[in-house]
Amino acid sequence: MKVDALDIFIEVKRVKGLRLRVRPQGIFMSVPPGTSAEYCRNFVRENMAWVISCLQKQQQRKEKMAELTHEKMMEYIEDFKPRFLQWQRKMNLYCTDVTFKDLTSRWGSCNYMTRKITINVKLALYPPQCTDYVIVHELAHLVHPNHSAAFWALVEQYMPDWRTHRAALKK
Ligand SMILES: [Zn+2]
Repeated sequence: MKVDALDIFIEVKRVKGLRLRVRPQGIFMSVPPGTSAEYCRNFVRENMAWVISCLQKQQQRKEKMAELTHEKMMEYIEDFKPRFLQWQRKMNLYCTDVTFKDLTSRWGSCNYMTRKITINVKLALYPPQCTDYVIVHELAHLVHPNHSAAFWALVEQYMPDWRTHRAALKK
């Protein structure tokens, strides 16, 4: 369906109300069976400001990711090693292995059983404090394999301003 200049993919589903989602693949709308095209179109228009802001954010993200060159990634990994060692010593928590991956939906992960940590190389595009936050976060998972209050207390103990760095990663 075309609304103004936008292509909207309509998915007829057993949903209660209309729902819009802006994805990298396109704009999707779930609609209950029997919804008129006019009703859908109006719904999109009502939410146009939100849709446009999502598309702009998507574009900014794409431009930012284009800056991630191989050289930048290598530089990042070099810088990461001493930083990571420092945090491991500070927290007295050691992992067995670190791997770098181009992850899509998370900044890092930690396998509690194998004590292996994975770091998203896209962090190279963010201030070093963001990497510090991810390191502290993943190391804390070696103690608490969850996001419990105890987990966050441990993060806060080593990084009282973790909220600021986490917020910077959401941009
Ligand atoms: Zn976590």
